[in-house]
Amino acid sequence: MIANAVKYKDLDMAVKAGLNDCIKCGSCSYVCPAQIRLVQYIDTGKIRYAEAQRKK
Ligand code: SF4
Repeated sequence: MIANAVKYKDLDMAVKAGLNDCIKCGSCSYVCPAQIRLVQYIDTGKIRYAEAQRKK
């Protein structure tokens, strides 16, 4: 859910899905059967979130 929210630029949904709880351990990417690079999306989301916070 976090990766999809980031992919579609829905930062609020990404946060609701747990963006800020992720510790970027990489386990989800490791086990993803579709080999989606989930951590990269999460990392992008964290950067976007930090930028949004800075602008406030
Ligand atoms: S990297 Fe994936 S498995 Fe690890 S904390 Fe974040 S969402 Fe959970």
